[in-house]
Amino acid sequence: MPAPPASLLDLDADALKNWLSERGEKPFRAKQIRKAIFDGRAESLSDVTTLPAALRERLAAELPLFTGQPVRHQVARDRTEKLLLRFADPSGKTPAHHVECVLMRETGRRTVCISTQVGCAMGCVFCASGIGGVKRDLTRGEILEQVLRLDRLLPPREQDGGRITNVVVMGIGEPLANLRNLTGVLEELTAPDGLGLSPRRITVSTVGLPAQMRRFAELGKPYNLAVSLHAPNDELRSEIVPVNQKTGLHAVLEAADDYFAATGRRVTYEYVLLAGVNDEPHHAAELAELLAGRTAHVNLIPMNDVAELDFAAPGSPATGRFAAILNDAGVPATVRKRKGADIDAACGQLRRVAEREPVSLAV
Ligand code: SAH
Repeated sequence: MPAPPASLLDLDADALKNWLSERGEKPFRAKQIRKAIFDGRAESLSDVTTLPAALRERLAAELPLFTGQPVRHQVARDRTEKLLLRFADPSGKTPAHHVECVLMRETGRRTVCISTQVGCAMGCVFCASGIGGVKRDLTRGEILEQVLRLDRLLPPREQDGGRITNVVVMGIGEPLANLRNLTGVLEELTAPDGLGLSPRRITVSTVGLPAQMRRFAELGKPYNLAVSLHAPNDELRSEIVPVNQKTGLHAVLEAADDYFAATGRRVTYEYVLLAGVNDEPHHAAELAELLAGRTAHVNLIPMNDVAELDFAAPGSPATGRFAAILNDAGVPATVRKRKGADIDAACGQLRRVAEREPVSLAV
């Protein structure tokens, strides 16, 4: 498969210095360029007037800052914003690929949610992203572009609410199936001359791939890990999360325990509540037993409707009861707040619409 067009964001600081020196440019230009991207919120390198005109032209032609095209920008009543980005398909077989990213605002916090793949191979039965499988991994540049485009929607840095405070890798795709590219992105998000976020402000959500969870721990950084559990036993989990047939629940929990031991970060277990499937009090009791004695937190996510799928969220009494059983057993559990409900902010849904109907939308 040919590589997608290179972007400036595919290069780390050293690679950028090399690129510049191969072209007879001074390595200190790398610092100027990175400052313009990460602090100056440049939209394109043509705007960076501290650079010589010839270099600006060369960068614009050979190493564009952004390679995606925003084809939709939605703003919800709660000011959650969602971008649908179109990236070229390197194989040329389909017109283009779409991914989504979301900006969520809460008091004192601006969280962005980013995608790591076009589609997803995991096939969780309730999830919109897996319908149609995975097309390809996103590049490091394409993942970073999502963060930087959302950053440019915020007020100036020095103003209240002007900074991204948290990043959650919970968009389309299985992040740990694209760990190589993700690692480069996380380095830029935490680099002092990048976005400068603390690793403690970054959460990666995985379906639960034990070998990759261990490799993620080996990065040696206190990133938060969220594990999509969705069922308290192997039989049910294998029905809801098909990849469990290969991994098994036990190995997932063991890898999560090892993650906690290595990083000291409390693991979050995500549990999508599907009415009549995994939401009965006996499921909650079994889950409490499974997690008792572990330093864990359960995030209950009422199912977000997906047009093509037949699952529904339980009502709020059943949801509250489920949470209470866990909390009473000493396993901290909270119900995830819904953000951007009026714009289909549940990931994967806008992409599905866009790929069904040709998009020719203004931003
Ligand atoms: N592949 C990663 C990231 C997925 S998205 C993972 O499996 O964790 C983040 C969370 O949203 C996951 O827990 C995922 O299972 C959940 N999710 C997916 N579709 C959903 C839906 N329709 N309603 C509620 N949660 C959903």
